[in-house]
Amino acid sequence: MIMMLISCGDNALYQDTYDILIRGGEIIDGTGSRAYKADLLIKENMIVHVGKVDIEKIDAREIIDAAGKVVAPGFIDAHAHGDPLTTPGFENFLAMGVTTITLGQDGSSPMTGNISEWMDEVDHIQPGVNIGIFVGHGTVRRLTGVDYRTEVSTDDLDRMAQLVDIAMEAGCFGLSTGLEYEPGSLAGMDELVAIAKPVGRHGGLVMSHMRSEDDDKIESALEELLTQGLKADCPVQVSHIKITYGKDASRAEDILAQMEAAREKGLRVMADLYPYTASYTGIGIVFPDWVKPPYEYEKVVKTRRDELADYLRNRIALRNGPEATLFGTEPWVGMTLAEVAEQLNKPFEDVLIDDIGLRGASAAYFVMHDDVMERFMIDPYVMICSDGSPTMHHPRGYGSFARIIRKYVNEKNLLTLEEAIHKMTGLTASTIGYDAIDNPRGFIKPDFIADLVIFDPDAVRDTAVYEEPNRLAEGFDYVFVNGIAAIEDGVFTGKRGGVVLKKRSINNNK
Ligand SMILES: [Zn+2]
Repeated sequence: MIMMLISCGDNALYQDTYDILIRGGEIIDGTGSRAYKADLLIKENMIVHVGKVDIEKIDAREIIDAAGKVVAPGFIDAHAHGDPLTTPGFENFLAMGVTTITLGQDGSSPMTGNISEWMDEVDHIQPGVNIGIFVGHGTVRRLTGVDYRTEVSTDDLDRMAQLVDIAMEAGCFGLSTGLEYEPGSLAGMDELVAIAKPVGRHGGLVMSHMRSEDDDKIESALEELLTQGLKADCPVQVSHIKITYGKDASRAEDILAQMEAAREKGLRVMADLYPYTASYTGIGIVFPDWVKPPYEYEKVVKTRRDELADYLRNRIALRNGPEATLFGTEPWVGMTLAEVAEQLNKPFEDVLIDDIGLRGASAAYFVMHDDVMERFMIDPYVMICSDGSPTMHHPRGYGSFARIIRKYVNEKNLLTLEEAIHKMTGLTASTIGYDAIDNPRGFIKPDFIADLVIFDPDAVRDTAVYEEPNRLAEGFDYVFVNGIAAIEDGVFTGKRGGVVLKKRSINNNK
């Protein structure tokens, strides 16, 4: 099907001058609708025209032949990690077509009560990709001195809510929680509602690494997030949706039905997902709450050592055994817990207790199942994230978006390319608010920002693997960030076009 979209009269079109003409590509516009052939005109950082352009009559500084290629909005990562002040290039994201990342995840954001200053610093350093930021609940707890307290006063709640309000005023897109980590884990429902209310008032959303992702606890964890959203009148998003050691797609159905029931009560509920079956986080994830702050690890180990060893043995068994924990940090990079135990010649639970402890390592955990992950992936409310960073020892930070196209579109036909791109662009933009009218991204339309990718879908490849997780993805011929080519003819230009995105226009509508 060929559609002609003419945004202005022919004469006006040919009287102006343009920076770039992208000719003859298949446009996949981010809405999920079918690809169509059209030319694109870019002027400065904007898409100004989508439709047929007469090359004889047009005055464009650069012409890119996109025949046989797909032209799509730059991909948007709903949940990412990394520090733009130390690794501003973010080539790992650009190489897989990502032009915008969403930071401040899992309850942890830059440790400042004045996020505006951080935003200015990042803008000044000029990151390679655009950055949207969420304010972290754990960070808010620390900044207000609530820290690891379980008892919180109304005054504490007011101060936390006020800090969230300030962050939203500064342009954060919402709040993130990390309830499986301390200090987030110490919060009860009153607190969760109090900190979500200012987010709802500003038209933002709460993204949550829920209290548990385990097969036997995920329903109650999800219920907590849904209740928080309903009570605070604030949309919610499940971060990196998964069911740890859930083996059957019907378990995904259960969780999706629970989310749907909340939608029927009027709550907007979304989720993001990365396309791997190993998670990656600090080793603390396998330890019980009763050895974590506010409790003192050393003391508990002294008094309850046997109980802790039992707990770890059972928990690691549930998580597919010590062979399924692959360390990503020194001195054990690339070794499994089983291998480390063998090298140290002691049981793995003793290695965990004495040689590693609560914070001594991060690891990939092979605890998920393909069927469950794939069922989540095709749900219309699920968008794509990497949950990765330039420095993480897990392939997801380098491969996720390319892997969706290579494996789940090309090889498994689980998604059409249009659906996949919608989940990587427009759906995410409209969920988070990156499509706001003063700064619109995530779709190919006139007057949208020129964050764009040009690629041959058959050439797209994720090359990062667990053994070598920091290998760049391949297959993107052009990646534009705000009209600036970060990748040109498949080669990095070294130009960094990213800016900090700020939530504004939706506030004004409220
Ligand atoms: Zn997380």
